[in-house]
Amino acid sequence: MGSMKIAVWGHPYIEFPEGKDSQKEVNSAFSRMAEVGITMYFAFVAVGERLLFKSTLIPKSGKDMLSKLVEAGKTAGVEVHPIIGFGDVSPLYGLFPERVYKVKFKGEPPEWAERAVFKNWLCPSWRENRELTVKVVEELLENYDVDGIHLDYIRYPNARPVSAQYPCVCDACKAQRLEWLGREEIEEEDLKNQGVVYKELSWRNRCVRETVERVKNLTEKRGLKLTMAARAYYLTSAVIEGQDWVSWCKDGLIDIVSPMSYTTQFEVFRNLLEEHLMLLKGCVPLFEGIGRRSSAGVLTPEGMMRQINLAKEKGLPGVTIFHFNALTDRDFELLKNL
Ligand SMILES: [Zn+2]
Repeated sequence: MGSMKIAVWGHPYIEFPEGKDSQKEVNSAFSRMAEVGITMYFAFVAVGERLLFKSTLIPKSGKDMLSKLVEAGKTAGVEVHPIIGFGDVSPLYGLFPERVYKVKFKGEPPEWAERAVFKNWLCPSWRENRELTVKVVEELLENYDVDGIHLDYIRYPNARPVSAQYPCVCDACKAQRLEWLGREEIEEEDLKNQGVVYKELSWRNRCVRETVERVKNLTEKRGLKLTMAARAYYLTSAVIEGQDWVSWCKDGLIDIVSPMSYTTQFEVFRNLLEEHLMLLKGCVPLFEGIGRRSSAGVLTPEGMMRQINLAKEKGLPGVTIFHFNALTDRDFELLKNL
């Protein structure tokens, strides 16, 4: 165990499935984390229809896994930060079909439209979506002794293929455009006008940032951390999706940031890491996100360590690994000797 801190993203519903979710089993996984120097567990407590904590605000049944995670975390000395956001990880997922990001295609929908990449994505343009998300966080902080909140999917849907090309046509997005465009929808031709793009992206960033500010108020009041999973590509994804995380960091809204620099190519990882250092200039602890097993592919344990060692060389205070369940005995052994 060196001076580098290790955090992990974890899927409790995979790690502790039905029948393997006793307090004893959760404790044992957490003590294993602590042994190899993992000090933070960012928990997916809501994914799609699943809900792993109690809430009186959400008309959805779920099981209370979070209380077990919190207890195990306290016993092992591992911080637990439940994950909240607008996309798949929203606790409100599937509940308000009229308030999701809506795309209108001219002619035949492209092939990707069939996949569920953005369906059910609560559009942050709705005050109701933002407020209820913040209320759920407030209730969660009242009910659970967590160490922080972790933001993920705290944005509009992916710039490519969705939000850069197909500005949302939900009622809230249409209404806001009447104020500065005089009509409800942005046409393809409008997107060539930088003024239109500026107004649309400012709006998106304002809506998401307002949510972040309000969650920050809640965590700060209680002396807890606000951490986040950020889009790795700042200008080509994050800013377009309303997630200007660099500004949030510079303005003191975020306590630890983890850009998800998932790649199996070491040089790509290096470039992203260097860009993030340039952007943040040390204003907030940067825990570079490393994809041990992700949609970007699978790293070997040694490949993962090579990325962690680069982060260490560059003076980063920590890294966040995606994801806990991907770690094998070999990974644990290597992490222990970091
Ligand atoms: Zn919308």
